[in-house]
Amino acid sequence: MSVMPKSPVARQKEAPQRRTTRQPRPAAMSEFESRLRRELQGEVAFDAGSRGRYATDASIYQIMPLGVVVPRDQNDLGVALNIARDAGAPVLPRGGGTSQCGQTVNEALVIDTSRWLTGIGDLDVEARTVTVEPGVVLDHLNAWLKPHGLWFPVDVSTSAQCTLGGMAGNNSCGSRSIRYGNMVHNVLSLETTLADGRDVHFGWFDEIGPGSPLAGLADSISAILRREAAAIREHYPQVLRRVGGYNLDLFDCRNPIPYDPEGRANLAHLLIGSEGTLAFTRRLTLKLSPLPVHKVLGVVNFPTFYQAMDMTQHIVELGPAAVELVDRTMIELALENPAFRPTVEKSLIGRPDALLLVEFAGEDQESQRRQLNALETLMGDLGLPGSVVGLESGVEQSALWNVRKAGLNIMMSMKGDGKPVSFIEDCAVPLEHLAEYTEQLTEVFHRHGTEGTWYAHASVGTLHVRPILDMRRDGAAKMRAIAEEASELVRRYKGAYSGEHGDGICRGEWVAWQFGAVLNAAFGEIKRLFDPDNRFNPNKIVDTPKMDDARLFRFPSDHQIIPVATELDWSAWNVTRDPLSGDLGEPGSGGDPAHGLAKAVEMCNNNGHCRKFDAGTMCPSYRISRDERHLTRGRANTLRLVLSGKIGDQGLASDEVAEALDLCVSCKGCKRDCPTGVDMAKFKIEARAARVKAHGLGWREKIVSELPRYAPWMRHVGKIAARLEGISWLGGRAKRWLGFAEARSLPVFAGDYLRTARKEASGSPPSHVGEVVLFVDTFNNYFEADNASAARRVLEAAGYRVHFNVREGERPLCCGRTYLAAGRVEMAKREARRTLDVLMPYVERGVKIVGLEPSCLLTLRDEFLHYGFGNDAEQLAGAAMLFEEFLVAEKQAGRLALELKPLGVGRAKVHGHCHQKAFGAFTPVMTVLNWIPELEVEAIVSSCCGMAGSFGYEAEHLDASRQMAELTLLPAVRDAGEDAWIVADGTSCRHQILDGTGREALHVAKVLEAALVS
Ligand SMILES: Cc1cc2nc3c(=O)[nH]c(=O)nc-3n(C[C@H](O)[C@H](O)[C@H](O)COP(=O)(O)OP(=O)(O)OC[C@H]3O[C@@H](n4cnc5c(N)ncnc54)[C@H](O)[C@@H]3O)c2cc1C
Ligand code: SF4
Ligand code: SF4
Repeated sequence: MSVMPKSPVARQKEAPQRRTTRQPRPAAMSEFESRLRRELQGEVAFDAGSRGRYATDASIYQIMPLGVVVPRDQNDLGVALNIARDAGAPVLPRGGGTSQCGQTVNEALVIDTSRWLTGIGDLDVEARTVTVEPGVVLDHLNAWLKPHGLWFPVDVSTSAQCTLGGMAGNNSCGSRSIRYGNMVHNVLSLETTLADGRDVHFGWFDEIGPGSPLAGLADSISAILRREAAAIREHYPQVLRRVGGYNLDLFDCRNPIPYDPEGRANLAHLLIGSEGTLAFTRRLTLKLSPLPVHKVLGVVNFPTFYQAMDMTQHIVELGPAAVELVDRTMIELALENPAFRPTVEKSLIGRPDALLLVEFAGEDQESQRRQLNALETLMGDLGLPGSVVGLESGVEQSALWNVRKAGLNIMMSMKGDGKPVSFIEDCAVPLEHLAEYTEQLTEVFHRHGTEGTWYAHASVGTLHVRPILDMRRDGAAKMRAIAEEASELVRRYKGAYSGEHGDGICRGEWVAWQFGAVLNAAFGEIKRLFDPDNRFNPNKIVDTPKMDDARLFRFPSDHQIIPVATELDWSAWNVTRDPLSGDLGEPGSGGDPAHGLAKAVEMCNNNGHCRKFDAGTMCPSYRISRDERHLTRGRANTLRLVLSGKIGDQGLASDEVAEALDLCVSCKGCKRDCPTGVDMAKFKIEARAARVKAHGLGWREKIVSELPRYAPWMRHVGKIAARLEGISWLGGRAKRWLGFAEARSLPVFAGDYLRTARKEASGSPPSHVGEVVLFVDTFNNYFEADNASAARRVLEAAGYRVHFNVREGERPLCCGRTYLAAGRVEMAKREARRTLDVLMPYVERGVKIVGLEPSCLLTLRDEFLHYGFGNDAEQLAGAAMLFEEFLVAEKQAGRLALELKPLGVGRAKVHGHCHQKAFGAFTPVMTVLNWIPELEVEAIVSSCCGMAGSFGYEAEHLDASRQMAELTLLPAVRDAGEDAWIVADGTSCRHQILDGTGREALHVAKVLEAALVS
């Protein structure tokens, strides 16, 4: 049986000389899939949605794989490789899929190691070595090693997502490569499976005995390398950052840092950077380094960019661990951001055109200080005295490193079809030519009507730059023209065209250009020795396609968008953008038949940042599942494919979309954390709306979404309903019928705060400080009135006259969130209109609208802006504040005098609602709690609580909801000790905490109320 497909390259008419593969036969494909399903423990997915989610990496390319396998363990991996071999199917190993050049896309069986093949073991502290499985993420390894005072020092920017298998595949390089080298310098051996099914250990060449399974292969490799010794000497650029082709220089290392300090040849090094084309890596033994104990950072301010580039060569002579560039554009972007401004300002002297961040690291702080002094002296000698700002505090240093990363993120978040495209992003040139190279390449950009921002690894001559190109229009032609001119510069300066991110598709055709015909033929020989049938990641490095073959683009010129009548206003994304000036067209001018929705979805560039595992906000469903389907990136890809008509038969209402969004808890973590601002919670509203239109609304969704309407009546029967729920056979049956989880207690209707409070409101004390509208949401009004009355007491104690969100003769105003969650956007808009009508007179006279429940109040600042209500909505958004935000702002304005006493409680542990975090509104909770004398306040490092509105009550989501809570929140609450108060502003969060730990969490208003002096 063979399912070997005709590869994308083979389909190119212009490349008939390439090795072709056989056409797939549908019957054989289905037997291939069935056998995988029968024999594997792990996941096997051949549906269009799953394949689509694995069709991209962080490059501009897209190729549908044959299918996807996520092996459960090493045995599973072996079985999958065997079945693929028997079927003659190509195989594509995959880790985090964060490659930028297209090396992680192919028409092959994708084998994803990142979910289960994550074992770490055999640590030898003395020898400083460790063995890992290929799916281990770099940050996880380093966290694991930290207690031993060791780390794996190839510190790539994607350290939170990239896997060791992928890093080895790409010969990845970190910011500190000038000190530690690249992957090839830090891998000692590899356990692999070859294309013929042999399991082979690659290590020191001189340890391969005559009886070794590797002996024959090693002899053949050795013969090729020795035969081509002269060509290797001539054509391998002598720069640290060279990752193109195969490392044929094993016996005569051309890298300025020897692959091995003692000069021993290691066959594993041939596989480093081979992009999955030679063997499947199953285990890696790595060389570790001692964790540097101290670091100092010298920030050098340059009046011109040219000087920064010109002087780098002298700075590296001082032995820094890193020299990283931040250019004027990035400085400006960071200064515009209030969060970064103070950090950047601390590092600036005047108005520099560029900064170099020069880090010295090691055991002895004094010697680093001396190096810093030497840097100051050097800059004086070079004509720039007083240009260095020294940072010794670790906090200040990491704040500045974060600015550099954020600058890139802001750059990536440009709207419009023109995007920064990575294809010459990592050419490396010797430092003495860096200034001329960057100057001339900038001229090339300008000649082609575009611009690029420079940043990153000055120390090793690898500066990142991405010209802005529109790949749907003239981008491909410009890409080739710029690439050709850039390559001429690289050749002139004897540099490396592929200096960090690998060859993949966008640099594959440049391998022959870089290394010449003789070595290119040798690469082919090596490939055939390992993989005679061309099955491992075919057509990468050898027999490669053209970089501008539009059929391989994620956005080919015939890229179509299906027309969608959207519910929300997406016109801000539907814009044009001038690549040179950056000027945006009018909202709605971008020509998107989905009115901007498609363009908003396409903001995801697949960089994989959402695959992080730290306890921040993004993305809780991925953290519990490790499944690409339940990841922001996977969801964005699903939506993109649906909106371009590639998958799904009902557009946004398709099952593929419903499935991908099923575990999205709309936490808005991605809105905050995604570098390009992908806002899945908002996409989910559109998708739900489309689904409801196509399939109608279930009873459960009706009941939940209509809550604000029937809640006023429920106060009469709430207690009876609660009692009925308590009768297990009855409550259980009703919950089952409606689809609620039996194990969940439903919230109890306890009254109607606004009904009584509005009567008192008119009798509220005359204002002596100001007035506010207290926006009491449905949940706090009917279920937890104590919070509303506490907030009112605090506000009145501080001297504010309190109004409420009510209009005579009507039920209370409402943010409409329950309707949004059900996809009933029209109903949500009606609520918003009602709210605007009543609140605008307050807003117009400068009164703030102060809310208690983050998900409700922040709807006024977010979704209200997308209903098309124009200026009114903008003004209301500007006036809407959370209770604690209001207090902090008033205090800063000198208007708040709140007398607080100690609580008699030592500690408060605070869980931030995910929408609070998404809007940067969590710090004020901590601030106001810190006003309470003698209270020690500590934030719980947590993501979404997992309850997320009705999500955690739904039977099918109970497990996922609990798993999210158990990631960090509930363990932290259990560890808090009985003497600590647990504080949480979200009603769902409080319910989840109570259900999971039996502990009652308090709204911050209640804590402040308890601390009021009178
Ligand atoms: C924003 C951004 C910043 C980046 N910064 C850096 C940087 O600072 N330095 C840097 O070097 N790179 C950088 N990269 C590129 C990329 O993140 C790295 O190369 C990373 O190490 C790839 O890891 P991965 O797990 O995502 O690999 P993948 O993309 O999954 O795979 C990479 C290659 O390795 C092969 N491979 C994966 N697993 C195996 C295996 N088990 N056996 C054999 N072959 C395998 C794949 O087939 C593929 O060819 C960046 C990318 C982005 C998007
Ligand atoms: S959703 Fe955002 S973080 Fe995730 S891959 Fe896309 S752009 Fe990156
Ligand atoms: S809203 Fe939350 S759960 Fe949904 S994709 Fe974004 S981060 Fe993940």
